[in-house]
Amino acid sequence: MADIEKMDDLTRVRNIGIAAHIDAGKTTLTERVLFYTGASHKIGEVHDGEAHMDWMEEERNHGITITAAVTQCPWRDHLIQIVDTPGHVDFTIEVERSMRVLDGAVIVLDAVRGVEPQTETVWRQASRFEVPSAFFVNKMDRPGADYDRALETIADRLGAQAVPVTVPVAEGGVLHLIKEKYYTFSGDLGEDVTEADIPEVHQALFEEQREKMLLALADFDDDIAMLVLEEEPVEAEQIWECLRIVTRARQLFPAFGGSALRNFGVQPMLDSLLPIMPSPLDRPEIAAKTPDGDDTIVQMTKDGPLVALAFKIQMWDGRRHVFARLYQGTLKPGDVIAIGGRTETERVARVFDVDAGKKKRLQHAVAGQIVLLAGLKHTTTGDTICSPDHPVLLERIEVRDPVIGLAIEPSSAKDEAKMLEALGKVEQEDPTIIVEEDEETGERIVKGMGELHLQIVFERLQREFGVNLRVGRPRVVTRETIAGQATCTGEIDRLIEVGAERTELKAKATANVRGLERGAGITVTATPNVKPEGANLSPTQAEAVRMGAEDGSLAGPLQGAKLVDVSIDIESVEVFGTSSTPDALRIAVAQAIRNAMHQAGGQMLGPIMKCEVVVPEESMGTTLGDLQSRRAIILDTTTEHGVSTLKVECALARLLGYATELRSLTRGRGQFTTAFERFDVTE
Ligand code: GDP
Ligand code: MG
Repeated sequence: MADIEKMDDLTRVRNIGIAAHIDAGKTTLTERVLFYTGASHKIGEVHDGEAHMDWMEEERNHGITITAAVTQCPWRDHLIQIVDTPGHVDFTIEVERSMRVLDGAVIVLDAVRGVEPQTETVWRQASRFEVPSAFFVNKMDRPGADYDRALETIADRLGAQAVPVTVPVAEGGVLHLIKEKYYTFSGDLGEDVTEADIPEVHQALFEEQREKMLLALADFDDDIAMLVLEEEPVEAEQIWECLRIVTRARQLFPAFGGSALRNFGVQPMLDSLLPIMPSPLDRPEIAAKTPDGDDTIVQMTKDGPLVALAFKIQMWDGRRHVFARLYQGTLKPGDVIAIGGRTETERVARVFDVDAGKKKRLQHAVAGQIVLLAGLKHTTTGDTICSPDHPVLLERIEVRDPVIGLAIEPSSAKDEAKMLEALGKVEQEDPTIIVEEDEETGERIVKGMGELHLQIVFERLQREFGVNLRVGRPRVVTRETIAGQATCTGEIDRLIEVGAERTELKAKATANVRGLERGAGITVTATPNVKPEGANLSPTQAEAVRMGAEDGSLAGPLQGAKLVDVSIDIESVEVFGTSSTPDALRIAVAQAIRNAMHQAGGQMLGPIMKCEVVVPEESMGTTLGDLQSRRAIILDTTTEHGVSTLKVECALARLLGYATELRSLTRGRGQFTTAFERFDVTE
């Protein structure tokens, strides 16, 4: 297993994430990697609910990967740390968090289907964090698998150029274009790899593909270009070096082929990733901020003050643990750390090495490592962990708003306290889960990113925390906007008596509100100073106007849902001497906005989801009919190899229960992925 000596030599560490569209084979591929590297002695298959990486019970039951788990794989004097990322789109926050701390990514494609919608999502995330990426074209054993076409979908749909490094062939071997060798796999699980010269039958394919690879590299390397032009041989060393540079710069994306399930093509990819993918030391400097807002640089070295990013909080044996990636410095048990941007400090009780469901104590950790920390009570997802003497702030991880919620209550009153405690823990671990109390009904509402997301949370509450629950019907989260526009006045004129003291509160304001196009957000402008009836406002009064505008724009006029896509203009403010206290101004401005919104009229908006439904061809008709009855907008339909794919847009409110419905319509064979697109009018 991983030993500390190796970890200290950061040039030999590769932090790699495996990401893909659901069902492309991430978990199966990761299992093979664990097995071949000796990190796991038994291969668990996903369909048996046995996979080593899917260690949370919910994952086993649902056959999907929810929690990004870190697993260490020693491979040829290197240590590959694999972060298995979840495939279901409800959980993309997990992918994003792990992308942030990776040095490289392997994006798995289904060789029949090529790039799929969620591949595009993970691709965008990898691009955003500039993570060098490679492709593994999996399922080359399936009928209809086509390596070249899969690589073309990378160009067409991702706008990226993949360059083949290995090429899979029908009998389950791969041609290595740089090593100029042919690899075959035997033993029960493909663990025995045989290297041979390129067989005669594959010579033509090899030459064609090697030419393709060299031409791609020639665009970035003048020496290679010259050799190719003069038809001179290109040395392997030269190719590796060029590939290393273009991959790290994200100019080209190396591609490998094979089948995780049929055990071929995995080891040559692992071998090739070592020279191509960066070590933590190769990571470019990271921009950070000092508490004063000045720019500073964090360098990946074990010298210098500690800088780490908390990217995940997890309950482990009932205790709170923090996953962190170290960017600079070292960390030991007992160290006192500061949280960037806050004044709190706290003590790290223990530092662990993480390996899927197991953890191992460490005496110290260094920059580049991903570790699990115990004892931290305040540090949460996205926080920068730093030395109290050198506080810095890394860029925070973005969190999206939840789109669906439902009421829950404990089955018996005595479970109330336990339920609240458990919900608190879940909320801490997962920033996309929000627990609220409905002000009118007093119900407790849990909000999340989708039905499956919530279902998994409830299963955890019951199993892990032993809370029995009654769960209400799911309701979508709504927003409000304004249909037309209106201008109204708001006024306060009140006498307040406190003891013997009497104060008059008096102020008047006029506001115009106007609906904007979707996605525009809220804009507030105030021009009180330039209007004839306006007064010159002091800074305190101007601040009061701003706060009044904020109060007035919190909620829509119909149901009090969060207001979006509205422009608000404070046209005038009238000040009446000392009676126009900041409070009076604030109330008058908020009132003017509310009056104007009522007069203009509100409009409800609901979440619109983009979905992909994949069904057997014979179920296409019924599936389409059902989607139309949900008033889905059909964007695209294709049928290939007996499998139909429908791309649709549909209001989330009319998709509730769809996953279950689709299973019964297709006798369990239909697949459904969905992602939030925007808030819009749904009627
Ligand atoms: P994930 O959702 O990306 O983690 O995908 P899984 O690893 O869970 O695999 C999804 C399904 O595809 C499972 O039924 C696997 O057994 C199957 N699968 C994975 N790899 C291959 C492969 O190389 N060939 C074939 N034919 N099936 C595979
Ligand atoms: Mg999986």
